[in-house]
Amino acid sequence: MSEPSLQINGLEAHYGDFQALFGIDLEVAEGEVLAIIGANGAGKTTLLRSISGLNSNEAEMVKYRSEPVGALRADQIAERGIALVPEGRQLFPSLSVEENLIIGGQIGRKGPWSLQAIYKLFPILKERRAQQSTSLSGGQQQMVAIGRALMSNPDLILFDEISLGLAPIIIKDIYDALPGIIGEGMSALIVEQDISKALAVSSRFYCLQEGHVSLSGPSATVAREDISRAYFGVE
Ligand code: ATP
Repeated sequence: MSEPSLQINGLEAHYGDFQALFGIDLEVAEGEVLAIIGANGAGKTTLLRSISGLNSNEAEMVKYRSEPVGALRADQIAERGIALVPEGRQLFPSLSVEENLIIGGQIGRKGPWSLQAIYKLFPILKERRAQQSTSLSGGQQQMVAIGRALMSNPDLILFDEISLGLAPIIIKDIYDALPGIIGEGMSALIVEQDISKALAVSSRFYCLQEGHVSLSGPSATVAREDISRAYFGVE
């Protein structure tokens, strides 16, 4: 593996007395696309929140480009080049499409992504740019959420359930756009319910089960029976 971009060591996460993650170890190489799969409640969203600074951790549990970042706030994580496309999109409902995108760019990192580049990737957003984000379809809102994350010009992008609740044709559009989104050198972590999609776009995968990594390995060669066992815990 080339230089690690993200290194997670013994990551734990708690919600009050409830423990959601138990000693997760995970590594993403520069430029690598990883899939995170697992049943509902396995801890996938918690993992992405912990990386993005939305859950507090011990500093050493998350390292980004060798820097311990586990204890940093979300804005400090974003400044370092990690962006989250959250589950449920979480757009600013009272703002227009363009205003939502501009907010993503306020972190001030330089890179290939600008309003023009987002509008080229998703031309419908240019047409809808003055509309309130809530007036868009679910798929278009997902495009805004992706665009907002890209506007921060991240080096590592975290996608949480990008296809959840979207029509198959829209899911196809978004997945077709993924290679152009991830591009040369950007790393990505993709949380996805659709196992086939997740494996098709990634070089390696991690399967979570009840807060543990139950299986990990190369996406291209994993056997379906092994995935089923790791996903559902059936023997
Ligand atoms: P899903 O596919 O349903 O989003 P997930 O794999 O992303 O599932 P998480 O959302 O990370 O799983 O949840 C992991 C565990 O933590 C679950 O048991 C969930 O109920 C619990 N959990 C998540 N958020 C909270 C919270 N804010 N307070 C208490 N428990 C929580």
